[in-house]
Amino acid sequence: MPRPRVRRTEAIVLRERDYAEADRILTLLTPGGKVTVMAKGVRRPTSRKTGHLGLFNRAEIMLAQGRNMDLVTQAQALEVFEELWHDLLRFTYACYAAELVDRFVPEDEGSSDLYDLLVSALRWFSTGDDLRLWCRYFELSLLRQTGYAPSLHRCVVCEGDLQAETNYFDLAQGGLACPRCGMQIPGARPVSLSAQKVLRYLDSRDMASVGMLSLRESSQREIETLMHAVLQYTLERELKSTAFLRRLRSELAMREASRQKPEGSAKPPVFDDQPDSA
Ligand SMILES: [Zn+2]
Repeated sequence: MPRPRVRRTEAIVLRERDYAEADRILTLLTPGGKVTVMAKGVRRPTSRKTGHLGLFNRAEIMLAQGRNMDLVTQAQALEVFEELWHDLLRFTYACYAAELVDRFVPEDEGSSDLYDLLVSALRWFSTGDDLRLWCRYFELSLLRQTGYAPSLHRCVVCEGDLQAETNYFDLAQGGLACPRCGMQIPGARPVSLSAQKVLRYLDSRDMASVGMLSLRESSQREIETLMHAVLQYTLERELKSTAFLRRLRSELAMREASRQKPEGSAKPPVFDDQPDSA
């Protein structure tokens, strides 16, 4: 179906890059899918769109059909996630979520469920607790909504029911294998029983249930490592933000350690790895 010449939609700004003198090219997630659009003159201080089309804002916009790309003709911010801009860790999680969506969702694809998931994620990352666990919930939901849901209940090889024991995750087949099959697969990684329970819990509950979980650090780490391997394998390339989150966490740990010494002079982490600022 051809697009109407002018349309109104809600959108989240996933990515922005400057273009020409005063324009900006924006990658947006809308309930109807991901689109790349041009915001003309948005970098002029006098532009009425300025401030409404900031990164991660939820905005109502008017799009007009352009020659190569749709043009934003009006924009009204509906929700600005202020807290993201005052907390580097929260901001980094938002960057990571936006980057994952950008990489997993091809142009013109997406759904209102995916849009709602991203809105919920941005709200959570701006004010919620336990960002790591919520990030796992986001990753699993994103995989499910884009057709890459990992198989967590039956062995991906023999299709037998998985028992309550250490099973193995095979990245190539995208799911758990029983020990008998798993041990035959080169590179399959053991997954503890508690990590499997958490994965199934996150995969089957709504987002309100996430806050009811409290995990030990070792489980957090095991699930995080596994999810990053799954995502990286699925995308077939290293995610910039994943590497950045790892680096940021070690820098924060160093800063914490140096605080305990007198006259600690640790530098704040440098944010030099935003998705596509180039
Ligand atoms: Zn099996």
